[in-house]
Amino acid sequence: MSNCIFCKIVAGEIPARKLYEDEDVLAFHDINPMARVHFMIIPKPHIDSLTDAAPEHQALLGKILLLAPRLAKEQGLDSGFKTLINTGRGGGQEVFHLHVHIFGGGPAVK
Ligand code: 5GP
Ligand code: ZN
Repeated sequence: MSNCIFCKIVAGEIPARKLYEDEDVLAFHDINPMARVHFMIIPKPHIDSLTDAAPEHQALLGKILLLAPRLAKEQGLDSGFKTLINTGRGGGQEVFHLHVHIFGGGPAVK
């Protein structure tokens, strides 16, 4: 998707504070954190939202969820974390490239 900001991050066209990357997924810190630790895990292929996910994405979505606790722990969220997937305009989604928010650790340090 040529106009998608997260596809541009995947392509390295705009910078992000990455914390994990493999052939399928990318994790990077949110530019406007809601908590002391706040990052997102995204699939590398463009999927607009959870509404647009299809059976062929099952393994990819499972991979993202299994990665969440591992990366949360690496970021120091030892006692737990929150996850959030905003879906569609009515769900508060602003960036239409599927992403799972992971956050915790108290108030954001701004
Ligand atoms: P949504 O509301 O779509 O679930 O969340 C989009 C998130 O992406 C927001 O929390 C916003 O701060 C974050 N975001 C938007 N643009 C950028 C960007 O260019 N870089 C990073 N790292 N995060 C972004
Ligand atoms: Zn995209």
